[in-house]
Amino acid sequence: MKVALITGAARGIGAATAKEFANAGYALSILDRDGDELKKTATQLEESGAEVLSHVADLSSLEQVEDAVKQTAERFGRIDTLINNAATRELETIREITPANWQLAVDVNLTAPAFLAKWSAPHMKKHGGVIINITSVEAHIPKGVCAVYAATKAGLLGLTWEMANALAGDGIRVIALSPGAIETDFGADYSGGKEDQPANTSLSKDMRDYSESVIPMQRWGTVEEIAQTARWLASGEASYITATEITVDGGLRHTWMTRDIKNRIRPGQF
Ligand code: NAD
Repeated sequence: MKVALITGAARGIGAATAKEFANAGYALSILDRDGDELKKTATQLEESGAEVLSHVADLSSLEQVEDAVKQTAERFGRIDTLINNAATRELETIREITPANWQLAVDVNLTAPAFLAKWSAPHMKKHGGVIINITSVEAHIPKGVCAVYAATKAGLLGLTWEMANALAGDGIRVIALSPGAIETDFGADYSGGKEDQPANTSLSKDMRDYSESVIPMQRWGTVEEIAQTARWLASGEASYITATEITVDGGLRHTWMTRDIKNRIRPGQF
């Protein structure tokens, strides 16, 4: 049985990806700092017939990260796919950054994925494996309001190329998967809320409308659209794909760059 270790699996893209991999026959090792939500996801996965190991852990602690990898290897004896999914994001311009928020984002978004890969790779070596780093179109498109988030996601891209090169000889593929605007709490926080969760400010509602207006497909993506791509990338059908970035964004990344600069998001706009 193949084993997938997925971070940030309590909700959103991580939970949907865990379900997708469970449906594909994987055993799941799922990690999140939100114990209550993680338990709900684990129960759903078990009810669907999957074998599940849960870790209530915070990615800002490398001890907890290392322990999660050790427990996964002890329980299942192998790791086939690692999905570095969890991330933290502060809506801060470069004027507003603080040392504490900067360090936290680097720890969670960049340091934890690097060490999860380092500690998981030996458990993939015998049979090959796949590491998927969930990055973001924001590594490429400047919004001016996510200084550390954009920097860590761009850093994760660099780490992807580096790891892919170093691990290819062990049969391990490493791929960056970059979502655009996806319907999750994380996305809603950015957009200012969904229809049934009104935004705190009218500007935030404007932001959501604006996002849809700059996405060529004129809608937000679903968590399943990211999960299905991750499952395909981990499969044998993607066996020659490594050291690259797959963007799932309805066309957002490239059209964003063609927009009039005056109409882009402004710091403090929402
Ligand atoms: P989400 O907020 O819905 O879920 C994130 C999960 O990660 C939560 O369950 C949270 O508890 C967990 N988490 C956060 N910090 C953690 C920590 N320190 N330790 C352990 N767990 C932690 O987010 P999402 O929208 O599902 O995003 C998942 C990934 O997709 C992130 O890497 C995000 O940057 C990326 N992404 C999302 C969007 C989007 O529009 N939703 C767009 C681009 C990229």
